[in-house]
Amino acid sequence: MTNQALENAAQAIRNARCIMAFTGAGISVESGIPPFRGPGGIWSRYDPALFEKAYFKQHPADVWPLLKTIFYDMLDSAKPNAAHHALVQLENNGKLAGIVTQNIDSLHQAAGSTVVHEYHGSTRRMQCMSCRTFFDSQDISLDSLPPCCPACGGVLKPDFVFFGEGVPSHVHQAATALAQQADVCLIIGTGGLVMPAGRIPSIVKNNGGTLVEINLSDTEYTYRISDYFLQGKAGTLLPKLVHEVLQ
Ligand SMILES: [Zn+2]
Repeated sequence: MTNQALENAAQAIRNARCIMAFTGAGISVESGIPPFRGPGGIWSRYDPALFEKAYFKQHPADVWPLLKTIFYDMLDSAKPNAAHHALVQLENNGKLAGIVTQNIDSLHQAAGSTVVHEYHGSTRRMQCMSCRTFFDSQDISLDSLPPCCPACGGVLKPDFVFFGEGVPSHVHQAATALAQQADVCLIIGTGGLVMPAGRIPSIVKNNGGTLVEINLSDTEYTYRISDYFLQGKAGTLLPKLVHEVLQ
């Protein structure tokens, strides 16, 4: 990556009317959260079939210990990193309308971002599979598994999207509406392989917008639709980019 690419991307952001960010696992790796895909990823250690909605419904007692280990014990200790904070800085300066994230770690909110559409849900809430009531995960003990609904005793499911489960329509609509308004989309730490989330940047592109991609290596987006590709760690490049935009 050249400084010229960074300057050009910063210029596009300065000139933009409405900027959004589309983030994935890559932005949270520097917070100690392993990605799902790739070497060392969660799916290299656990069978994704265990996280099918249908399997979970049949075998919640088998799946919950894994959910606790992978998603709750680990995420409890994770803190936002410099990339999350850079997006907050952009928002505080009126240069970021909102974030669509595929992550379920809520680190954008922990950093202070206020408009975050969690496309695949979040670990912060659980829903009763019997009475459909939602609960704050902090209010639910995981000492005995599976956790039960305080209201009806039904089994609780984390409020994130399992395999074989659709994206909630209100989240999809909010994310799409943001993308339709945006004239710049920052693609950060995601290769866009998971559908339908991966199509969000295309909405911006199809409306004549500009795509600024920050990833460790090239992706499906890089040569197909990205206008600027900044290669490297989000925690290093995003603060640099934001500094360049705001100077
Ligand atoms: Zn219930």
